[in-house]
Amino acid sequence: MADIIIIGGSIMGSSIAYHLAMTGRAGEVCVIEPDPSYEWAAAPRSSGGVRLMHGLPENIEMSRYGREVYKDFARLMDVDGQPGSFDFLENGYLYLVKGPEQVAAAEESWRVQTEQGVPNDLLDRDELGARFPSMKVADIDAAIHGPQDGFIDPHAAVLGFRRKAISLGVKYVQDKVVDFEVSGGLARKVVLESGERIAGDIIVNVAGAWGPKISAMVGMTVPVEPLSRNTFYFDIRGKIETMPLTKDPDGVTFRQEGAGFTAGQTDTGVAFGFDWEVKHDMFDNKFWPVLANRVTAFEALQVKRGWAGHYAFNRMDGNTIIGKWIGGLDNFYVATGFTGAGLQKGPAIGRAMTELLLDGGYQTIDLSRMSYQRVIDDKPLIEKGFTA
Ligand SMILES: Cc1cc2nc3c(=O)[nH]c(=O)nc-3n(C[C@H](O)[C@H](O)[C@H](O)COP(=O)(O)OP(=O)(O)OC[C@H]3O[C@@H](n4cnc5c(N)ncnc54)[C@H](O)[C@@H]3O)c2cc1C
Repeated sequence: MADIIIIGGSIMGSSIAYHLAMTGRAGEVCVIEPDPSYEWAAAPRSSGGVRLMHGLPENIEMSRYGREVYKDFARLMDVDGQPGSFDFLENGYLYLVKGPEQVAAAEESWRVQTEQGVPNDLLDRDELGARFPSMKVADIDAAIHGPQDGFIDPHAAVLGFRRKAISLGVKYVQDKVVDFEVSGGLARKVVLESGERIAGDIIVNVAGAWGPKISAMVGMTVPVEPLSRNTFYFDIRGKIETMPLTKDPDGVTFRQEGAGFTAGQTDTGVAFGFDWEVKHDMFDNKFWPVLANRVTAFEALQVKRGWAGHYAFNRMDGNTIIGKWIGGLDNFYVATGFTGAGLQKGPAIGRAMTELLLDGGYQTIDLSRMSYQRVIDDKPLIEKGFTA
């Protein structure tokens, strides 16, 4: 028996567990997670980017809290004098746009950021070229530069939250949820692959790209699909100036990774569903032309490895869905649909879910617009500018 059962113990599950535990409720929390190494979870396979560069106030505020937590992570996740080993690399973010439509969306997004007190710069082509001399900017019309943005080691983030939550008394069960016992409008028990059944008062489904299938076990539908994304690591000859995490107008994103770089692409034309195959031809045909067009030093790059990871892709509007299953089982909660920006929202989602469960409503960031109600009403919450 647990008061609160959390399904999935990656960044969302472990952050929720940590935030619940910090209120003194650790003994009441049980996290079900099949893989303590997180080999397949999205979080460790992500780019680890944290940006204040969003077009919705809620997303800016969530990332702002994420940034605060990650910048202070080693201290916050200290267990018995052993700090979580961690760096927040403040290399910045850069969003490049071309054409009137992209420029208008970027300007609108930048205005929202400015209203929220984010010190981002809207650059014209000349300013951009002067700031990043290695970049070829002739085809770029404008850019947003976020100097306070950066990236973290996402695997360390998951393990840091998990280790701290366990040290505070949260129980992790290494198993998989395969079914539920439901009666009287409530999910009473989770059924595990091992055959064990655990009763709970509240169930929270944060199983990432696997989450929609788990929600479907109790009849809840969410407009969220697994979407495979390939990331490649490459080396270049020689050195260039420190680069921000850059999103090209043609969809490719790249950032520094140690001595080399990683690159990913959102719009790959890949069908929904799990697909672990690394498509090297996609790098040659789609990634490389964009990279070589942007940075001269990328013309002669050498790919060293690639991997696939999965977004929990919200096909309705790309945005978070958090809260109770309105119109469904009264004790069934989800946080899903993070698409390509859940790592940075992990801390805020942990705090928000804790507020929902313990206080009955949001105390810090009001995420009411991100409830399941907009799915029922079919009212997308559209974000302009940089989206994952
Ligand atoms: C290529 C790529 C790049 C990304 N880049 C960024 C970025 O730069 N910045 C950013 O903020 N976000 C980024 N993201 C998104 C981010 O990684 C995700 O939004 C975030 O990791 C979601 O966390 P999660 O805990 O919901 O899911 P996951 O990390 O996927 O974890 C889900 C967990 O559920 C567990 N699980 C599965 N089935 C079951 C079951 N039946 N029972 C119990 N547990 C189960 C899994 O083992 C797993 O540990 C990126 C994602 C990808 C794929």
